[in-house]
Amino acid sequence: MSKYEKRYDEILTNIENVRVRVNQHQIIKIIAVSKSVDAKAIEDMYNIGQRAFGENRVQDLKSKVLELEKLPIEWHFIGRLQTNKINALIDLNPSLMHSCSSLDMAKEIDKRLGVKGKTMNLLLQINSAHEEQKAGVNPELAIDIYDEILATCKNINLKGVMSIGAHSEEEKLIKESFELTHSIYNNLENRGAKYCSMGMSGDYELAVECGANMLRIGSVLFH
Ligand SMILES: *Cc1c(COP(=O)(O)O)cnc(C)c1O
Repeated sequence: MSKYEKRYDEILTNIENVRVRVNQHQIIKIIAVSKSVDAKAIEDMYNIGQRAFGENRVQDLKSKVLELEKLPIEWHFIGRLQTNKINALIDLNPSLMHSCSSLDMAKEIDKRLGVKGKTMNLLLQINSAHEEQKAGVNPELAIDIYDEILATCKNINLKGVMSIGAHSEEEKLIKESFELTHSIYNNLENRGAKYCSMGMSGDYELAVECGANMLRIGSVLFH
């Protein structure tokens, strides 16, 4: 038995317990955040059934994509994207980019995609607790910005929203930030939004309770 198997099963069970209580029809996708582990660990996790992995630095994503080329892994980009790394990210063909944090960034990505004749699936990141240290759009502006991207960025396939829960010990504040993100997601479902990406190691059960259908889980899975 792989060293990750027991932990993986526990997490799946935890998620399933909340899911069946909250919404029997919801399908929840787990992104294994592999930013702090090497390619061997990703392969071990792949071998017990995990297919989607997330990285937060373009350079790391690139080296892991190359090292694991032989496996049909679905790669997600979840980190801050510097303008000078946009082309490199596009070239890696990520399955989904979670962290588009402004209209300007969307326009820049769209422009580079146009040059390369490519498209990209993308989530709009929402700064749901109005935290200075966090990236993402102001929740009050999120719907307008989403609409603007839909209208102007033809090479981008907008797929929904992403958020990091409030940085707090207080569950109530984290919950509020998830609920706010989920309400924005709900408003965008009629514009084709499919994913509400929120919930990490410390708060994934709460995120499912608040309607997340995509979780980004790193440390509890790998350590
Ligand atoms: C690192 C990271 C995660 C995973 O965090 P864990 O607490 O290790 O589960 C999720 N989302 C983003 C954006 C991250 O940078």
